[in-house]
Amino acid sequence: GISFYLSGGKSVPIISRVAKNALIKEGYRLAVELLTFLGIPHPEKVVKLYPHELSGGMRQRIVIAIALANYPKVVIMDEPTSALDVTIQAQILDLIKDLKSSFNTSFIFISHDLSVLAEVSDRIGIMYAGQIVEIGSAREIFLEPLHPYTKALIEAIPTMDKTSLKTVPGSVPDMRYPPQGCSFSPRCPFVMDECKLRQPDMVKVSETHSVACFLARKGDKQ
Ligand code: SF4
Repeated sequence: GISFYLSGGKSVPIISRVAKNALIKEGYRLAVELLTFLGIPHPEKVVKLYPHELSGGMRQRIVIAIALANYPKVVIMDEPTSALDVTIQAQILDLIKDLKSSFNTSFIFISHDLSVLAEVSDRIGIMYAGQIVEIGSAREIFLEPLHPYTKALIEAIPTMDKTSLKTVPGSVPDMRYPPQGCSFSPRCPFVMDECKLRQPDMVKVSETHSVACFLARKGDKQ
């Protein structure tokens, strides 16, 4: 099926019409197979549509299908549900949970929404000012958070019985002029003198749980 075209003495591989058609056909077949797997109705029709003809949730599924097409070892999803309404968000989260169990692929899920992470994650790393300040199993992060920033994020999750929404006071540092010492120190309710002098190292508090905060070193919850 492969033929060669000579140009300026060089040979350039081109694909003959027959092979090209066979490849396109196979591409469609695989695309339809993936769309079917992702639960998209009428995949034979959808595979020929343009992006603007699809809903937001559908587009997100298609992008996931594209990411999975070559069976990668790792897929990085950056805020995959933030532009979707809650119903579609729930469907996409269910889909990601299914994919985790059926594909031999790891997913790195980036989100500002801890309640979304609670649904899909095995391990969670909390980042502040570009650094991981706490990492642990989803259970450890939600049930035994150690870093003040993690605690503040969890308290900020809206729940049915909350009458007011908690926020993390202050704002993120301007990283052109990063704060001295712990980058969370200007906003931390537990700030101590040493926090302003140097950055805390990551401390392992269990086999799977580490945190960068001087409080952890002092045995808080160890
Ligand atoms: S090191 Fe200090 S400032 Fe930083 S999070 Fe811990 S207590 Fe707060």
